[in-house]
Amino acid sequence: MFDVSSFRRQFAFFHHHPDWVYLDNAATMQKPDAVTEAVSRFYQQDNSNVHRGAHQLSQQATAQFEQARQTIAHYIKAQYVHEVIFTSGATAGLNQLAFGLMHTVLKPGDRILLTQLEHHANIVPWQLHCQRYGVIIDVVPLTADRQLDLNAYQQLLALKPKLVSFSHISNVLGHIQPVQQMVALAKAAGAITVVDGAQGVVYQQPDMRQLDCDFYVFSGHKLYGPTGVGVLYGKTQWLEQLTPLCGGGEMIDSVSFVNTTFNNLPFRLEAGTPNIAGVIGLAAAINWLQQYNNKLIIEHKSLLLNAFFQGARQIKGVAILSMPVHNAGIVALNVDGEHPSDVADILNQQQVAVRAGQHCAMPLFDYLALNGAVRVAFAAYNTLDDVNQCLLALEQAVEILT
Ligand code: PLP
Repeated sequence: MFDVSSFRRQFAFFHHHPDWVYLDNAATMQKPDAVTEAVSRFYQQDNSNVHRGAHQLSQQATAQFEQARQTIAHYIKAQYVHEVIFTSGATAGLNQLAFGLMHTVLKPGDRILLTQLEHHANIVPWQLHCQRYGVIIDVVPLTADRQLDLNAYQQLLALKPKLVSFSHISNVLGHIQPVQQMVALAKAAGAITVVDGAQGVVYQQPDMRQLDCDFYVFSGHKLYGPTGVGVLYGKTQWLEQLTPLCGGGEMIDSVSFVNTTFNNLPFRLEAGTPNIAGVIGLAAAINWLQQYNNKLIIEHKSLLLNAFFQGARQIKGVAILSMPVHNAGIVALNVDGEHPSDVADILNQQQVAVRAGQHCAMPLFDYLALNGAVRVAFAAYNTLDDVNQCLLALEQAVEILT
């Protein structure tokens, strides 16, 4: 049995906000003390720049930084440590991919395949370059119950896209995509596979060897880590073909006005001073998280999810967009005829933190013909009390608004 009380006690945030119900976890997670302490320890005791110092302090900071890379590579089961590239987040990783592949792998007339429910971070970077380079974007539609249409996916794969990029878990609906199957089908069709793991990484430990995708991106802040740090995982053969999006220090071997040559992986794709404390904080988050049995965490979250579904279904006027099955703990809903922001405002007045709007997924809402939704996202530190308070606040919102 997962001990939510002792888990929750490790988050100073909840001591500071005992009256708040924090359910905006799909936007960002709260940080355990192990992470905030690791970050402040670095700044207070170990701060130096990495990789280029002549002094011992820099060497120690470098050792910590590279140890963090090993921790993360091990956690995601990358084959090589240099396959972990540090970025500022999932958005930066996807921008690096769109830019880097467009100059080398993707050619005018090629097709790439995205899905209807992607976050803007997995749409706009591709659009920016596809339009300019004449690469065609196809989009996998949804079924009536707002799941990805796998038949349509296979039909679109028959068009032989060079690349397929999709999210592991929808940040709006919470639906868990059949990533393993989707990667296998895309590979069989000869496509490069990119998985946006921004929401997936917190649900389950991603296993790069098993998943066998070519690229996987995620952000630290959704995995209990600091903001401003993320990971672009890639198989060596593909990382080597990426044109660096950023140039500058660290990523070069030698620079001259005649011929600049580049460093090896991972440094070739990490220009400038990295977010050293962020990387160390992310490794601290992963080390801390590994003391828990994720199966128990998943069970706990589905307990919360089921209780929430049960309660919300009984509130007249609440329309739930998410499906309860294959759901990572995110529920999108609306109150009939009311603007989602008005609902979220009333929840806010009850100190229930949720998000309202289109959640960086406008094409999904266009498809659903909706102007947005309220998003309730559960995390391991949430309790049944949180569920009940949120349901009460939702009842109040319906009462006030309708
Ligand atoms: N992809 C998905 C599915 C997300 O949920 C998010 C953030 O909400 C992103 C990408 C972008 O992440 P970030 O803003 O941390 O770069």
